[in-house]
Amino acid sequence: MTGLANRLINRPILASIRTSAFRHNLNRVRELAPESKIWAVIKAKAYGHGLEGALQGLESTDGFALLDIEDAQWLRAQQWQGRILLLEGLFHENEIPVARELHLDLVVHCEAQIQWLETNALAGKPLNIFLKLNSGMNRLGFTPKAYRNAFHRLHAAGYHLHHMTHFANADQMDRQPTVGQQMECLQETIEGLEASSSLGNSAAILWHRNAVGEWARPGIMLYGASPTGRHADIAHAHLEPVMQLRSEIIDVQELKKGDRVGYGGRYEAPEDMRIGVVACGYADGYPRHAKDGTPVWVESESGVGVSCPIVGQVSMDMLTIDLRGAPAAGVGTVVELWGTVISVDDVAQMSGTIGYELLCALAPRVPVSIE
Ligand SMILES: *Cc1c(COP(=O)(O)O)cnc(C)c1O
Repeated sequence: MTGLANRLINRPILASIRTSAFRHNLNRVRELAPESKIWAVIKAKAYGHGLEGALQGLESTDGFALLDIEDAQWLRAQQWQGRILLLEGLFHENEIPVARELHLDLVVHCEAQIQWLETNALAGKPLNIFLKLNSGMNRLGFTPKAYRNAFHRLHAAGYHLHHMTHFANADQMDRQPTVGQQMECLQETIEGLEASSSLGNSAAILWHRNAVGEWARPGIMLYGASPTGRHADIAHAHLEPVMQLRSEIIDVQELKKGDRVGYGGRYEAPEDMRIGVVACGYADGYPRHAKDGTPVWVESESGVGVSCPIVGQVSMDMLTIDLRGAPAAGVGTVVELWGTVISVDDVAQMSGTIGYELLCALAPRVPVSIE
């Protein structure tokens, strides 16, 4: 039981970012998509992991893909010289000078963006454009009918073009539109338009190797979580979780049979029992909807540890666990909320969501250590 104290002067909660896991997962992507270059997707502050750890762990990527120009500025300020793709392109015309200065690659998904780029088609090194086709997801992108014209206009304005589309169902076989249907739409639409393409997200890289393109766009798999939200689906992909969220037990209560725990008294003690109060709540990003039974890993002196279930409603700063399986645990015992033993996807499943949402929702008040 090491405690988190040597790293903290305050509340005992800590998110550790393992850069070795980032490196490992990036290598796995390269093994699965050996022909492709890689846009490491680090939107939403690297899915809640923080840009700093992501840059350290993923520096051998070919490029970073993100949404916010401020994040691109930050990467350039850290001397990142590789490529950077704005996944939703420009939000306003006045961003063009910054995009040029930072040498950003741009997604173009709508008519307004084309007009801005035509108006501002300056001489010099041409910007790389990833022209987005709406091949059936109906979120961003040009319809197949409008796509070719968009391509020709940007080409005429001197830009360097790539094809791009995004899959709605690369993580499941039985939903429409299927990857096959979207691929067919893409191939028909781009017939004869010479350009490389960027297609696959993590799910496509894992399960649709022919639908990745020259530039893969892995996100969630780089963080070691599952595109489906079910950990079992990536158990054989040999990915490593990057974030480990830990805290400590800060109080222990001895309940009598029939006593209730926390707001709403959701849990009733079936017998006399000890419960541990953990310094982690929904204001840290732990899901308030976590059901009784959601696993928390309680470490032990011997280094073995044991899974203890949540009992009672998660509150803002604390949650409560059943310590019947951990008689030696007490104040100061370290627990893992998710990370190396407890998969974030398992916590998410017990809370009616997917690992993506929990990772992205890690609260700014949780200190992060890069390891
Ligand atoms: C977020 C995102 C990705 C990465 O998706 P994952 O499921 O996390 O791999 C890829 N492409 C686009 C356009 C995205 O927005």
